[in-house]
Amino acid sequence: MWRCSGRVAVTLRRPSCGRTDLRAWRWSSTRACEKALQYRVGEKLHGFTVSQVTSVPELFLTAVKLSHDGTGARYLHLAREDTNNLFSMQFRTTPMDSTGVPHVLEHTVLCGSQKYPCRDPFFKMLNRSLSTFMNAFTASDYTMYPFSTQNAKDFQNLLSVYLDAAFFPCLRELDFWQEGWRLEHENPSDPQSALVFKGVVFNEMKGAFTDNERIFSQHLQNRLLPDHTYAVISGGDPLCIPDLTWEQLKQFHATHYHPSNARFFTYGNFPLEQHLKQIHEEALSKFQKIEPNTSVPAQKPWDKPREFQITCAPDSLAASSSKQTTVSVSFLLPDITDTFEAFTLSLLSSLLIGGPNSPFYKALIESGLGTDFSPDVGYNGYTREAYFSVGLQGIAEKDIQIVRDIIDKTIDNIITKGFEDDRIEALLHKIEIQMKHQSVSFGLALTSYIASCWNHDGDPVELLRLGQQVAQFRQCLKENPKFLQEKVKQYFKNNQHKLTLSMKPDDRYSEKQAQMETEKLKQKVSALSLEDKRQIYDKGLELQTQQSNAQDASCLPALKVSDIEPSIPFTELAVGLAAGDVPVQYCAQPTNGVVYFRAFSSLNTLPEELRPYVPLFCSVLTKLGCGVLDYREQAQQIELKTGGMTVSPHVLPDDSHLDTYEQGVLFSSFCLDRNLPDMMHLWAEIFNSPCFEEEQHFRVLVKMAAQELSNGVPDSGHVYASVRASRTLTPAGDLQETFSGMDQVRLMKRIAEMTDLRPILRKLPRIKKYLLNCDNMRCAVNATPQQLSQTEQAVGDFLRSLGRSKKERKPVRPHVVEKPAPNGSGGSTHISGSQVVRKLITEPTFKPCQMKTHFLLPFPVNYVGECVRTAPYTDPDHASLKILARLMTAKFLHTEIREKGGAYGGGAKLSHSGIFTFYSYRDPRSTETLQSFAKAIDWAKSGRFSQQDIDEAKLSVFSGVDAPVAPSDKGLDHFLYGLSDELKQAHREQLFAVHREGLIDVSSKYLGVGRSTHGLALLGPENTKIAKDPSWIIR
Ligand SMILES: [Zn+2]
Repeated sequence: MWRCSGRVAVTLRRPSCGRTDLRAWRWSSTRACEKALQYRVGEKLHGFTVSQVTSVPELFLTAVKLSHDGTGARYLHLAREDTNNLFSMQFRTTPMDSTGVPHVLEHTVLCGSQKYPCRDPFFKMLNRSLSTFMNAFTASDYTMYPFSTQNAKDFQNLLSVYLDAAFFPCLRELDFWQEGWRLEHENPSDPQSALVFKGVVFNEMKGAFTDNERIFSQHLQNRLLPDHTYAVISGGDPLCIPDLTWEQLKQFHATHYHPSNARFFTYGNFPLEQHLKQIHEEALSKFQKIEPNTSVPAQKPWDKPREFQITCAPDSLAASSSKQTTVSVSFLLPDITDTFEAFTLSLLSSLLIGGPNSPFYKALIESGLGTDFSPDVGYNGYTREAYFSVGLQGIAEKDIQIVRDIIDKTIDNIITKGFEDDRIEALLHKIEIQMKHQSVSFGLALTSYIASCWNHDGDPVELLRLGQQVAQFRQCLKENPKFLQEKVKQYFKNNQHKLTLSMKPDDRYSEKQAQMETEKLKQKVSALSLEDKRQIYDKGLELQTQQSNAQDASCLPALKVSDIEPSIPFTELAVGLAAGDVPVQYCAQPTNGVVYFRAFSSLNTLPEELRPYVPLFCSVLTKLGCGVLDYREQAQQIELKTGGMTVSPHVLPDDSHLDTYEQGVLFSSFCLDRNLPDMMHLWAEIFNSPCFEEEQHFRVLVKMAAQELSNGVPDSGHVYASVRASRTLTPAGDLQETFSGMDQVRLMKRIAEMTDLRPILRKLPRIKKYLLNCDNMRCAVNATPQQLSQTEQAVGDFLRSLGRSKKERKPVRPHVVEKPAPNGSGGSTHISGSQVVRKLITEPTFKPCQMKTHFLLPFPVNYVGECVRTAPYTDPDHASLKILARLMTAKFLHTEIREKGGAYGGGAKLSHSGIFTFYSYRDPRSTETLQSFAKAIDWAKSGRFSQQDIDEAKLSVFSGVDAPVAPSDKGLDHFLYGLSDELKQAHREQLFAVHREGLIDVSSKYLGVGRSTHGLALLGPENTKIAKDPSWIIR
């Protein structure tokens, strides 16, 4: 046993001043902000003029607004001492039809440009850069291209590629065919095979509309704002996409992707001048100002409410087939550029629908009529005029009117009664803690936050000054206590621009959709002349050849492997024992006055039959009440005192043995320094006297959880397929499936359909008995150094309040190994104090076996997963396999699965657990994709890749390995997985050392047929080939 050394406290209060510390503390300095404050309004910088400089202390940043003299392009720079620098440019794209022209354009500009004429520079840059984020997306009225990186040279490289792509793209016809839509023979080399629609965006949108929530949201926006661009589908309606021509695409680019219609955004600690110079020289200086005419006119308000009904496909995973109707009532709100009104209405909307104390939760969710709120509930500020929406999903069709009446009555009630002060305080507290909580993608969060308002010429800086808005809001409430009630009356009671939308399942929905697609296809094909057909055949072959040709990407800029930092900065940790023998890991970080607390409790003694119910237990534990607090009071306290309290099950793989893992539950929460005692008191109450009696509320939570799981399947189908495919490969795989696979989705569906939930409810106190004590627990705290001693005290008090089992409980599985996490005595220089001992389960006699599962789901696309058992983290082969996965994705699978196969995505990855996974996402193919996986293995075994390819794969892997970690999450790998910085450094060196022979070696050693056990899983529609193959299990 390990004892507290007594050194902990000293280490904690006086962090040593090594190199690591300097790096870590630099965050709190404000050099970037101060430097930016020195710009003067009117100052000329590289073709731009500064128009405003504003300090925004609540977000620790300085905002500099500029405009480009020659073109009128707008520019916003947010200087902040954050190394994860971000760039984004956005164009106002306001289509007037549903051909998806902005979306196809977003894809096509990334297919090559004047300076970078190679195919697909965007995807290629993923492997030539250390970017922490690269993407492009199409919203309803703008298209945005963001990237982020911590490396200055990389920033310049990516900026150059992005600018050239947007302003000087090739827009070749074949790119349009590949990314947009095309008619092509099912088998391009066989002119006798049928002509079908293909194309990345075409399939992406077909996939997107398998999601019923998405269908509902799309219609809601289209019907509520019916007069201009919001009446169409900017992403493209699969039935309209085939009406788009290449000419129209080029025309749309010429009018929309112009500097006069562009907004540029930069964020972070890199100097602004450098960005301006490059943007001016490489792009803007080559343009003249135009009048873009892309603005969206104000929506004309209606003089009376409207109603619409739509249909969708039935959801086979949702509980109760007779209750799958959705209804919502929505109201048009003012222009989002009225910043304070928008702030007020968004707060008001949280008061109306957020949490169990809100009036609509009480009236609608607790009515038991449905499973959850309707999609897009609350405030929606992504269109020029905002809207508020409220309703229910999972109701019986006959209850539509009842729901509508409840909504009207609730609004009347609020106008009379108003809101409790405590709820308003809780909400303002939430804003305060969100401003202080630092995420690693803060730049991305900011650019998304301001995008819509700025797009309609609102002031983005005004929007960032949250402190001022909170103050103004408090003032309004003080001057007029009925301030909010009057808003409710104005916008929800006396508002004729009101839409009631309902959606019910139609058994023949998918069939009808397919029929319409067939009609469209027939119409297109019948219009073809013989000459057209010959051209289609030729172009199909040409595209195939182009996709198969070796590609020269040498025109693109690239970082080198030598640009990667050879070693990682170490994180200082200290471990102390509290309440006798519970290890607590302390990590001092610049957290802006927020404390992060975590506890991990082992599941080793839990009886097997209770395991499937652990996820449910976790999802309701902080929501049913505790001690003297009922569930409403508890929710109120959590909102008022913390930034959230969550509980989740975990299966943690071991770093050196595939048949060994740790199982447990992670408790996480954070709060402002001043609220620490209250937060720990809440945990003590939850652990010592959780309430499991409220059957009515439990039913509400069960229904919501089941609905959420079933709605999530179309978006994460590849994850479900992979979890299933690895189920029989390791002992941990089986547990993972139980906790988070399709088995869990189906179990929750069954529970949600039960008429009597008491038998399930009675399992919860049994699980509590094994889990909520400090027998097998460890804790972790991240806080500022000044706060650590208070934290030590508060965590100690919490642990001392917990019970212990009277007799020692035996683990359910016989083989348990005790594994000390590495610390000071093991040679680590950055962890002081005691040691964390983890109790892992091992199954030395485990035999992996092959299993193939097809989950029949009524989707028009497939999700495929194939998994292989390989090598654990510390094995040098693991490093080779990790590089190999990236190499196969970039150099083989991307072409096979996305470009040729038409799937939205696909690739290979190696997880920490040593499972190698091939996957595809929204894939029109199924068994053919499995053949592509096999071909990828042959390709790897034959070594048909160059040293350049290997280096690119290394860069790409390192951009993940070196992704920034937020102060809240530093040291978490050590806490959860027992990974020390030394182990990570050793792994890093193994990654650097990976070479060609090693890659060929591991591909035959593990991936080849007959080498290691494979598991397969498929989610998707009926499949005749698989149905005939007895080796598949169909579920
Ligand atoms: Zn897309």
